Amino acid sequence: MFQYRPERIIIDQAVSEEPLTEQICGRFPDVPKTVVENFAWHQDESGTDPLRNPLTQGKKTLHLKYFQGASIKACPGFSDEVVCCNYFTLDLIENCPFECTYCILQAFLNKPVITVHANLDEILEQVRQRTAAQPDTLFRVGTGEHSDSLALDQILGIKAHVIRFFAKLPNALLELKTKSNHVEHLLDLPHGGKTVISWSVNPEAVVEQEEHKTARLNERLEAARKASDAGYKVAFHFDPMIHYPDWEKGYQELVEQILDAVPPDRIAWISLGTLRYISSLKSIVDERFPNSRAFLGEFVPGEDGKMRYLKKIRQRLFRNVQQKMEQLAPQIPTYLCMEKSSVWKKTMPHHPQTAPEVENRLNRSLQQRFPMEL
Ligand code: SF4
Repeated sequence: MFQYRPERIIIDQAVSEEPLTEQICGRFPDVPKTVVENFAWHQDESGTDPLRNPLTQGKKTLHLKYFQGASIKACPGFSDEVVCCNYFTLDLIENCPFECTYCILQAFLNKPVITVHANLDEILEQVRQRTAAQPDTLFRVGTGEHSDSLALDQILGIKAHVIRFFAKLPNALLELKTKSNHVEHLLDLPHGGKTVISWSVNPEAVVEQEEHKTARLNERLEAARKASDAGYKVAFHFDPMIHYPDWEKGYQELVEQILDAVPPDRIAWISLGTLRYISSLKSIVDERFPNSRAFLGEFVPGEDGKMRYLKKIRQRLFRNVQQKMEQLAPQIPTYLCMEKSSVWKKTMPHHPQTAPEVENRLNRSLQQRFPMEL
């Protein structure tokens, strides 16, 4: 897997003295650094030269930013239209060094650079206050909304602080979602059972074709095994599932490969979601990845404005994996991401109508299966 190295580091004045800024700068002693009052990336020609791919080139700038606003939020997937899982997201990094063809960030982020929110202590203090305000709620908090949680972490070293922090929170579980295999630096940490490391997975044929610069499937599974041996709970996200020619066999084998690699009793949950995208993404992908096959097939707009496969295709994709899971590891809870209750009904053994129902089922499973780790 490729190794990221920035070409320059831009530092907001407001975070120039932060311990995380010093830590990150110390890891790149030879990379040029500039402290700025306010980084106006769009006036910065070197990051947006259209003759060089601006999205790829932009990622070579690392911006250490002062993050204002609420850092912990309800997952943006939440809406009344779909049955969600009541998840929270924690914004620590924006953008990702990997190049998945279908990545929504290409159309969603308003700047091409990689941004690290360097006022980490303030951000984590917000998490402490938010979780303390609802002591009876178990917060599941993920950091992979606007980036891959671990793609850069072996060089930036942010998540060790976050894992230690969550180990001491009584009512929260951290989820680090990744397509990397960077876990070595996390294995000896005192995680206290409060971190789940999870992998987004696809059959190797899809990884090869669509998930550029990421760890190959066998590397991800090997990393999952190491994390589970180190006492972390692990999880897997079949997301985005792609309706490619060999999908039925490919996804069934993927279930088997996962269960061969990791003891099922260490797998906290598995989620399923098919490819979905906002329509502005398509032209960007056509230009950046002309060989991609991800967007072949018929897609229809959902009520949330996102394009999805036809319902009957989504249901077939879900049922295929769900039935295999029931056969091989029925104790692992599964859930659908961003689907309506009518799709759950035709696909899953349980039929929640609301997000709290999904959340309660996941929490009950955690309490039953990992009573000493919560
Ligand atoms: S790993 Fe996730 S965030 Fe990174 S490019 Fe792929 S889809 Fe986007």
